[in-house]
Amino acid sequence: MLTVNAYAAPSATEPLVKTTIQRRDLGPKDVLIEIAYAGICHSDIHTVRGDWGPITYPQVVGHEIVGHVTEVGSDVTKHRVGDRVGVGCMVNSCGECEQCLAGQEQYCLEGNIQTYNGVDPADGTITQGGYAQAVVVDEGFVLRVPESLDIEKVAPLLCAGITTYSPLRRWNAGPGTKVAVVGMGGLGHMAVKIAVALGADVTVLSQTTAKREDSLRYGATAHYATNDAATFDELASTFDLIINTVSAKIDMGAYLGLLAVKGTLVNVGAPADPLEVPVFQLIMAGRSWAGSAIGGIAETQEMLDFCAEHGILPETELVSAEQINDAYERVLASDVRYRFVIDAKTFA
Ligand SMILES: [Zn+2]
Ligand SMILES: [Zn+2]
Repeated sequence: MLTVNAYAAPSATEPLVKTTIQRRDLGPKDVLIEIAYAGICHSDIHTVRGDWGPITYPQVVGHEIVGHVTEVGSDVTKHRVGDRVGVGCMVNSCGECEQCLAGQEQYCLEGNIQTYNGVDPADGTITQGGYAQAVVVDEGFVLRVPESLDIEKVAPLLCAGITTYSPLRRWNAGPGTKVAVVGMGGLGHMAVKIAVALGADVTVLSQTTAKREDSLRYGATAHYATNDAATFDELASTFDLIINTVSAKIDMGAYLGLLAVKGTLVNVGAPADPLEVPVFQLIMAGRSWAGSAIGGIAETQEMLDFCAEHGILPETELVSAEQINDAYERVLASDVRYRFVIDAKTFA
């Protein structure tokens, strides 16, 4: 086993602290990755603080991982030592169910194995994520990261990128479609950039107009404040697709009213409490309300290649390991444009 430095949450209420963890010995299909950068996702914070249910501590989170291959198992064929690679939100799945066979590992009928806070079927241990110096992952869940994408910024594509790319593709965002992005944060700013690159006409719906310049710079054609009731009148029945990235309670009736006939509102934000849906808003215009979770491995690779082709990167702020707890407070205060990335050298 390999001992590596990491930052772990000791409990739901204490700050993350420096520690060491064990990575398993390389199996024949495993890849050892020296981590270069790890993104901070809002899900990391929800998980360590127990917002989504009790977890086992200590827990190392982080599911936006980029680095280089330093060792490969005897049967590995997809990756070589020195390759620049990434790992996202899952590290394994059954590989045999109809979802896995269709390349939708995120919807594995046995449940995919999450990068952290999952149970590793190999040995029953709790998986530990990317706030660490290195990680061991089955080659099938390791992505190629194109060299043209700045390694210091690319990590958030592994969660925020694919989480928004997948529904935009599934619901055919492109030339001639009107897309609204609700929430201009880590997920939302990626949704804007990707939807624009797909050719859609993109509107940002943010709480205030504070981020309007950013929205327009990333290619949106409009930015509206949702704290202004006039927004909902002006934009009624406008959008073919709404991507809701907000993980808090919103007025579903108001947002569904912004959909055109047969439009779809997709939740990628995950509020802990149920949302109330006035069903008439769906029925009277044949609208749909849907959900979407990350994307399959093949689609994640497609997203990385798409972002390389279109020069799409997240907006990031680099922090050291010692700054993780401060960064968490700033994420909770929406004081980041738009994603923190940890320099893994500082775990040393
Ligand atoms: Zn995430
Ligand atoms: Zn499966």
